[in-house]
Amino acid sequence: MTTELEIGLYIFILAGFLGYHVITRVPPLLHTPLMSATNAISGISLIGSLVVAGANYSRLSTTLGFLAVTCSSTNVVGGFLITDRMLKMFKKREEFGIQHRRFNPKLLLALPVLIIVLLVLMHGFRRSGNDAESSAVFAAAALRYFYIVSAVLFILGLKGLSSPKYARKGMLLAALGMVMAIAGTLFHPEIVNYRWITVGLLTGGIVGGAMGLRIPMTAVPQRTALSHSLGALAASLIGISEYVRHVAVGLDHVKMTTIGLEVVIGSLTFTGSLMAAGKLQGLLPGSPITYRGQNIFNITLLATVVGTLIYLVFAPAAITLFFVIVGLALLFGFLLVIPIGAADMPVVIALLNSYGGLADASMGFVLMNKIQIITGSLDGTSGFLLSLLMCRAMNRSAMNVLFGAFGKIKKEEVGAAAEAMGTVRSITPEELTVLFDSVRSVIIVPGYGMAVAQAQHGVSELAKLLSTRGIDVKYAIHPVAGRMPGHMNVLLAEANVPYDQLYTMEQINPYFPEADIALVIGANDVTNPAAKNNRNSPLYGMPILEVDRAKSIIVLKRSLRPGFAGVDNELYYDPKCMMLFGDAKESLNSLFAALKS
Ligand code: NAP
Repeated sequence: MTTELEIGLYIFILAGFLGYHVITRVPPLLHTPLMSATNAISGISLIGSLVVAGANYSRLSTTLGFLAVTCSSTNVVGGFLITDRMLKMFKKREEFGIQHRRFNPKLLLALPVLIIVLLVLMHGFRRSGNDAESSAVFAAAALRYFYIVSAVLFILGLKGLSSPKYARKGMLLAALGMVMAIAGTLFHPEIVNYRWITVGLLTGGIVGGAMGLRIPMTAVPQRTALSHSLGALAASLIGISEYVRHVAVGLDHVKMTTIGLEVVIGSLTFTGSLMAAGKLQGLLPGSPITYRGQNIFNITLLATVVGTLIYLVFAPAAITLFFVIVGLALLFGFLLVIPIGAADMPVVIALLNSYGGLADASMGFVLMNKIQIITGSLDGTSGFLLSLLMCRAMNRSAMNVLFGAFGKIKKEEVGAAAEAMGTVRSITPEELTVLFDSVRSVIIVPGYGMAVAQAQHGVSELAKLLSTRGIDVKYAIHPVAGRMPGHMNVLLAEANVPYDQLYTMEQINPYFPEADIALVIGANDVTNPAAKNNRNSPLYGMPILEVDRAKSIIVLKRSLRPGFAGVDNELYYDPKCMMLFGDAKESLNSLFAALKS
């Protein structure tokens, strides 16, 4: 066991480093697909769940295994489908109108052939000869090779995400890895009954398929949170099943530690992610819920969970305490998320993604399944890196996001500051047409308001119209514009905006002084000059899109209300700035019509 644990730890650490190198190469453009891709891959917890559901352990284990199979297969099917839907949308200018070959025909042929050959071989091993024991050993060995190939395919899949060009092919490889791992596991020597496995796979496949095919792109954040909760629930259920199965015969320190970590991380990620999904879907109040002594209470609760877990490691037979710890972890996940504003949820989702990865990896340690350790480590690294990137782009620490209740804005201060800034010029779409007559370059700056108004198609139409008039159009994408990493990229790709027209903040900022118009559509904080000029501003230090350097600025929003940070934007009082007030979609439609006529 100790040698296995050592090997597992080596694998966990090395996979983490590998994940770091592969994931840091994923461009911000593909950060949202990365989230759903790691989500799909972490559904590999399915293989552990299949064994528990199909083995003859106990009725409780079969039930928990069945539930875990359903949760994990929902994630696998839904995750791969939605990732593919997103990736299909990313196209370059010259790729529009070209019908892509959906799959490489050779791959299409090779896939089933390879899987069938492997399955037949394994089946043969299980049945061959008189020596049942040695054939089972062979089958187990073959399964290990399946897993090695799958792990390589997962890593190649994530590597494909380093460019939109290879991303879909990469994901196809990862999906192949998943099919291989699942198909191989179905021949696991301990699986004796397929009834609940079949029901679980079918239910998960249907639910995941419906989610993956039907969920709108704007609902991707809540879908991601929901699938983290399903993955974490699967890990937790398997942890409980393993505890109950082994506690009577005795659990050693290592096994109890891994099971304890699995259920604690799994349970808190389950309720935390469920809360996050509820807030993002608008089912729960989005504003932070805070009370006096909240952080102290949460830290005490966490310390109690950790203390009880340590006690259990030395007294694993204390069954009641084990279930108390599960309950406390569920409560902690809930309490961890309630003080966080809905707008901060993306950082929390990325962190929960990372916890979900750790829960998966712990499940890998419990079942001593190396592929789960690898994917758990990759998932954990990806979530952790994304949350750090988001915090850095917002100039905030993860501690501040988790414990700062940032969404609480002091409205009176905001109003008072606004009055001192001067006057605002508003403009109508008809008046704007005169301005557009003489321009040669326009930089479009989309923000959260574009997503709220669902104005991406209007933006794309307007940009096309301007291009036909010989105007150079570029899009400026701030890393935290919107409410999730890569939010603007996905929406613009959905509206058929070629990704080579999208510029990152570092690329676009030097172009602003030459731009005739910076057209800001529902973006606020990411353009606020206070981030550069005002040391007292909560935004101070956050890198911004320097729209204030453009020759003229047009802002489309409904009012002078602040954005996510709750800070007034001095840009609107700049003499070069004109406000086109109204819903972004309606304003764009009016502007488009005025320009056409
Ligand atoms: P923002 O600062 O939140 O501002 C969005 C603006 O959109 C609002 O001021 C709002 O003004 C306007 N708006 C809302 N609905 C609209 C509609 N239907 N039509 C037109 N305008 C509308 O957005 P941002 O500039 O994109 O900045 C993103 C913020 O979110 C940053 O502070 C960032 O730190 C934070 N954040 C981002 C992420 C991420 O991963 N992307 C994660 C966490 C936090 P009106 O109400 O006046 O219309």
